Amino acid sequence: MRRTDGYHLWSRRHYLVATAGIAALSGCAGGPEDDGDGADTEPSDDEDEPDDGGEPDDGDEPDDEGGEGGEGDGDEERPEGVSAEEFERGPVPELYASATSLGGERRDAADLFAKADVGFAEYDEASAESGHQPGHCCANCADFVPDKNGDGFGACVAVEGYVDGADWCTVYEGLPEPEVPEGLTADELATAEVPEAYRTAASQADEARTPDDLFTQTQVMLTESVEAVAEGSAAPGQSCGNCAEFIPDKNGDTWGACAAVEGYVAAEDWCAVWESVSEALS
Ligand code: SF4
Ligand code: SF4
Repeated sequence: MRRTDGYHLWSRRHYLVATAGIAALSGCAGGPEDDGDGADTEPSDDEDEPDDGGEPDDGDEPDDEGGEGGEGDGDEERPEGVSAEEFERGPVPELYASATSLGGERRDAADLFAKADVGFAEYDEASAESGHQPGHCCANCADFVPDKNGDGFGACVAVEGYVDGADWCTVYEGLPEPEVPEGLTADELATAEVPEAYRTAASQADEARTPDDLFTQTQVMLTESVEAVAEGSAAPGQSCGNCAEFIPDKNGDTWGACAAVEGYVAAEDWCAVWESVSEALS
């Protein structure tokens, strides 16, 4: 059996469902089992526009001039040593400056919206906004750059400052559904052998993939992040894109793989053994 100590207990009910399924495999350690029903990778269907145009501006200054980690704007805790202004407006750490987002877009620090101009908010607050749709959060947005240094925050290719997976803004952009690779059918994706480049690859948190020691997608209830967050299976801010087990696209087909789960996996997916990349990197 795979280890079970790293699971994120977002929901005791779902954790029990997941582990009950896993326990059923005790004594059957080894290869993938074909009882999956396929990865659900329906695309998000909307792309909101910003409220007031498309250029970065020098808008509002943050209220809190902090300078050390702690409670900043809203209830979010800033990384140690990051001022409220940096948290709000940047600059973000160098490794994000020209990073690539989940949707494959390169960040340009000179071409970003101010948070104040795009209704930037934490998920719970965003849920009260008419423009927000259930399940939409930065973790399943094409513009999100997941945490790279274990400080709990990522960045965005459209918006300034530090960004958490559980945030949201009005320029949210759903990730497009990857096309079914040539030679496969949609029904085969859940159990198909992934391309050679992924089979023993390391995940984004350096977890090694062992092809004969993987969960099936059915066992871990793989679905879309948007759907899982909307229905409460996943906490806001969780997707494969910011999971420690995710192996990002290596061949340009926008599919990735997973060090814990068999078959094709996309950044916008989610499953019951999601593990925070931030915790794994910290
Ligand atoms: S990642 Fe978040 S802040 Fe950036 S565009 Fe998407 S929803 Fe907005
Ligand atoms: S990358 Fe996705 S499928 Fe793999 S463990 Fe994480 S959430 Fe589950």
